[in-house]
Amino acid sequence: MLITELKSKEVLESLLTGKVFIINCHGCKEVSFPEKEAEEFEKELLAAGKVTGILTTDYICNPENLQVRLERRRAMIDEADAVLVLSCGVGVQTVAEYLTPKPVFAGCDTVRLPGFQGVTPQEFDCGQCGECYLNYTGGICPITACSKSLVNGQCGGSKNGKCEVDPNMECGWERIYRRLEATGRLDMLKCPTQVRNFATDAEVTK
Ligand code: SF4
Ligand code: SF4
Repeated sequence: MLITELKSKEVLESLLTGKVFIINCHGCKEVSFPEKEAEEFEKELLAAGKVTGILTTDYICNPENLQVRLERRRAMIDEADAVLVLSCGVGVQTVAEYLTPKPVFAGCDTVRLPGFQGVTPQEFDCGQCGECYLNYTGGICPITACSKSLVNGQCGGSKNGKCEVDPNMECGWERIYRRLEATGRLDMLKCPTQVRNFATDAEVTK
């Protein structure tokens, strides 16, 4: 199981400088979503006239269903400067992949819980690290896309775009660079060094 926690109001406000389209995923039963807190935050954004539309749905990690739902709301998405996704890390990555070059932000952190993990087929992986980095990396998870789970850039060992640890996989940080370039956010690579808080990576046992 896993739990998603809304990021702090300060972090969310720093991401949303313009108009936003919001996606809430209230999907699978293995995930606990911060529905009440999210609703309160969305009410504030609505009152400020910053929201072009809200989609509340399930299983946004299913790309085919997601694409149909997003295309029905394409005008609202185009009107927004960014898309805010309130879901686990897999959902955010699925939306970011489909909507590139639109900036897509993660509104939640994903935290691991003990117990059964669902078997939904997914294109992306979230390590449930407890401190989501997707807002720095263009929606590609550095924990799972990089063999060393680096959060501050490439190790320097890639060859021809392939990872030095596993030559069968693309270097995650080269993918991140290309995504940031496509979304006009390469300046994210100049942001202060990220210090990973490993305390958030522990399973919640209480
Ligand atoms: S950075 Fe990766 S592992 Fe951590 S919560 Fe985000 S998607 Fe999951
Ligand atoms: S080559 Fe790329 S994916 Fe592989 S460990 Fe280094 S930075 Fe990570």
